[in-house]
Amino acid sequence: MVREGKDPTSPVIKLNGVNKWYGSFHVLRDINLDVVRGEKIVICGPSGSGKSTLIRCINALEEHQEGQIIVDGTELNRDLKNIEKVRREVGMVFQQFNLFPHLTVLENCTLAPVWVRKTAKKEAEKTAMEYLERVRIPDQADKFPGQLSGGQQQRVAIARSLCMNPEIMLFDEPTSALDPEMIKEVLDVMVELANEGMTMICVTHEMGFAKTVADRMIFMDQGQIVEEATPDIFFNSPESERTKEFLGQIL
Ligand code: ADP
Ligand code: MG
Repeated sequence: MVREGKDPTSPVIKLNGVNKWYGSFHVLRDINLDVVRGEKIVICGPSGSGKSTLIRCINALEEHQEGQIIVDGTELNRDLKNIEKVRREVGMVFQQFNLFPHLTVLENCTLAPVWVRKTAKKEAEKTAMEYLERVRIPDQADKFPGQLSGGQQQRVAIARSLCMNPEIMLFDEPTSALDPEMIKEVLDVMVELANEGMTMICVTHEMGFAKTVADRMIFMDQGQIVEEATPDIFFNSPESERTKEFLGQIL
């Protein structure tokens, strides 16, 4: 029997009727979402619509109160073992990079492989250098994050995630904190990753990127998935008035 989640046609991420509240505030409402292996999903929607909360729930940075979230066959519940297992499969890149400021670029990339995966330091360094080459900053390996530009820091953050060899990558507005001239260098790395077959969920308002890589667009508003469509349909003939209005504002 094929274990759920390992079958290439079964969803690698599955959300069933997920609801979440912050106190009395209902932030996620009946979210249903299946993501298959290798699929690229782009989530957009107004500020405060629950996009960050949704993707943070997928690696248990936030807890949901109702419904099921199953990642690569493991259900996220109160079981800490499950949470650890899922976090090992899922890499996350944040708007604010979240690098360790007191560690060099190379040390940022080797910390988790050495301490979490128990990889030998030399091997972790070799892998880290390979990923730093892929994001085109091997020459920055011995610098500290504060010595790098925002675009370089975000590429380090991506390389650092990849060093853990994740099955899935989550991106939460990875270019929103960047100066315009640095956005492309980060998006280029993300496009490459998409082309290599990574399963990706990206919260972003970079619609050029979305059109290039997304298999599916998701529009969220007030904690709900309001629209879900291929980029072609989403951008050219969205169904919901709210989607039309939103696209009118950002395009
Ligand atoms: P988005 O990423 O779409 O801008 P968020 O998921 O960050 O939206 O937030 C959705 C809503 O939940 C917002 O109204 C926000 O103020 C609220 N919120 C986010 N985090 C918390 C929290 N830790 N406690 C209480 N409310 C929160
Ligand atoms: Mg957000």
